[in-house]
Amino acid sequence: MNRAFNFGAGPATIPTEVLEEAQKELLDFKGSGISIMEASHRSKLYEEVHNGAIALMRELYEIPDDYEVMFLQGGASLQFAMIPMNLAMGGKIQYANTGSWSKKAIKEVKVQNLDLEIVASSEETAFDRIPEDITFDDDADYAYITSNNTIYGTQYKTYPSTKAPLVVDASSDIFSYPVDWSKVDMLFAGAQKNAGPSGVTIVIAKKELLNRVKDSVPTILRYTTHAENNSLYNTPPTFGIYLLNLTMEWIKKQGGIKAVQKMNEEKAALLYDAIDNSNGFYTGHAQKDSRSLMNVSFNIKDKNAELEAELIKRTEESGMIGLKGHRSIGGLRASIYNAMSIDGIKALVELMEKFAAEKQ
Ligand SMILES: *Cc1c(COP(=O)(O)O)cnc(C)c1O
Repeated sequence: MNRAFNFGAGPATIPTEVLEEAQKELLDFKGSGISIMEASHRSKLYEEVHNGAIALMRELYEIPDDYEVMFLQGGASLQFAMIPMNLAMGGKIQYANTGSWSKKAIKEVKVQNLDLEIVASSEETAFDRIPEDITFDDDADYAYITSNNTIYGTQYKTYPSTKAPLVVDASSDIFSYPVDWSKVDMLFAGAQKNAGPSGVTIVIAKKELLNRVKDSVPTILRYTTHAENNSLYNTPPTFGIYLLNLTMEWIKKQGGIKAVQKMNEEKAALLYDAIDNSNGFYTGHAQKDSRSLMNVSFNIKDKNAELEAELIKRTEESGMIGLKGHRSIGGLRASIYNAMSIDGIKALVELMEKFAAEKQ
């Protein structure tokens, strides 16, 4: 077997143990004679997987009982549209603009002609930071942030406090640290970065928030539809939820989310140290106090595209993939989600140091 170190931003690396377990069970799931993919979503066989995933998420992520856990489809991007459809009540809606994903979410509020306000933005400095002192109005219908900015490599260290319901796009840092649920009313994520394969969208939301929905919202686009039917209103992405369940079991084996957080801190520190100790050969895109533990975006001195391309080529020759930065800022990006091993980080750091020594 020849598994690459996959630094891609998403769909991203999945723990090898999870894939091995899926492989082992692929043809005959727990003695049933069928694959879990072939099981009815109403069967007992599947129901155990479905409810098991929800129970493990509740346990590991310490989700309070007054929150719903839902599995939807359409990616995080459908949530950009569904959130205003379901939560707007005719008052103002406030967003923080910290990158491309925030902008896409904002666009969906605009097309619905709602009373939108951008309370903070770091767009003027190429989204190199989380703006300081973000304040939302207590009486806003809801407030919205993107907890980790996958492209620019910035991340909130703590979520802003507000009396308005706070909605968090955690697509690229879900399950990577414990969440303070007293601050959050809704948190959602496409699974494909930190929780499994694409096709499943996780939505965790305070139950009382969901009842706001207006009669004009189509049935399938209402959170209440999915909440009332335990995410079985229509056929859910069963195989994705199965892999999500295995990923939750993997997190539990690592010692839970706090243990995973500690590993993430160690992993990110190795990479940022390599950048900071390179005598300016490497420069991180994000300001230091906004640095993401999940996506490390960096350039080579003077944004030297030729050297950057050469380094990317060298990583590929050494069994590392997915390091090309997003086209909007160029350079390199190392996505180091929960499932990226410390060995992967060490291999990358070693190559970066060797490359810098060679070229400096
Ligand atoms: C990847 C990503 C998205 C988009 O997810 P889809 O599932 O492709 O719609 C949204 N927000 C953030 C923060 C992301 O990283």
